[in-house]
Amino acid sequence: MTAQKIDGKEIAAQLRGRIGKAVAGLQAAHGKTPGLAVVLVGEDAASEVYVRNKGIATKAAGMTSYEFRLPADTPEDVLLDKVRALNAEPDVNGILVQFPVPAQISQQRVIDTIDPSKDVDGLNPANAGRLVSGLQALTPCTPLGSVILAKETLAKQGGDLSGKHAVIIGRSNLVGKPVAQLLLNENCTVTMAHSRTADLPAMCRQADILVAAVGIAEMVKGDWVKPGACVIDVGINRIDAPEKGLDDKGRGKTRLVGDVAYDEAAEVAAHITPVPGGVGPMTIACLLKNTLTAFCRQNGFEEPVV
Ligand code: NDP
Repeated sequence: MTAQKIDGKEIAAQLRGRIGKAVAGLQAAHGKTPGLAVVLVGEDAASEVYVRNKGIATKAAGMTSYEFRLPADTPEDVLLDKVRALNAEPDVNGILVQFPVPAQISQQRVIDTIDPSKDVDGLNPANAGRLVSGLQALTPCTPLGSVILAKETLAKQGGDLSGKHAVIIGRSNLVGKPVAQLLLNENCTVTMAHSRTADLPAMCRQADILVAAVGIAEMVKGDWVKPGACVIDVGINRIDAPEKGLDDKGRGKTRLVGDVAYDEAAEVAAHITPVPGGVGPMTIACLLKNTLTAFCRQNGFEEPVV
């Protein structure tokens, strides 16, 4: 079997297009625009790129983008005061503090300070708890995007997630746990695997839906995959790429790979996400989706289906 590639870039572009239309419709009906505030502390190069891309996507969807850059030595109480000010700002519907933050700041205290109704990263314990309780919540963006990819892929085949056995490798609050909860909500039978799981390959071979969120380059081999499975690779790992030669500073070039050995797994799976171009683009699209959701709930507007 040679798997069909799940085109996350295309699915994310379609989702962003539907969000843009919904924003325009709400603007026409109510004269209000959703606003997303992103706070970046310090000068981490990767974070700079993420924040810039988030700003571009926010504006492209017709939303207002607010960007705040604070120096790397910002004390924790200054950042928390900034978050509290944004909590109180009516034009800001979503707040995202770009992680990681510098060492003097507690990531958890930042998460705890964001108003749960504006917590578009879905990491505040109030949202995590509501998700587990089956209540209305804002859901972390990467898990939401991963599950949308699996759901849309199966729907295109005339199927759904109900009754499927999902194995998720990784149990972080950011990815593994919310993916498990979302798949449970879709009526999957869910197994969560992690670093202490016994015989992980055998566990993975039982998966109709295999989600890898580990952070180890190409850990999941082809013979870990059940024939016909749908494989969602959340991992983003940078590895050396000697075949690409040297960059202009004479350093060896690198490339991105996932947690799944793509070529091997694609021989066995029915559907698989590539890295890059799979889950990654869905994360920003789902950030916009959450901002739209937060905007509607804060204003008492009916939530458009996007
Ligand atoms: P964490 O490091 O927080 O969690 C990794 C998880 O993998 C842990 O639960 C850990 O288990 C488990 N694990 C580690 N080693 C093994 C092993 N040998 N066998 C089985 N399980 C193992 O990572 P995140 O959840 O934050 O991220 C996971 C990956 O997803 C990373 O590559 C990250 O870059 C990527 N990512 C991608 C995003 C995107 O937009 N596409 C967004 C966010 C993350 P234990 O709990 O037992 O230690």
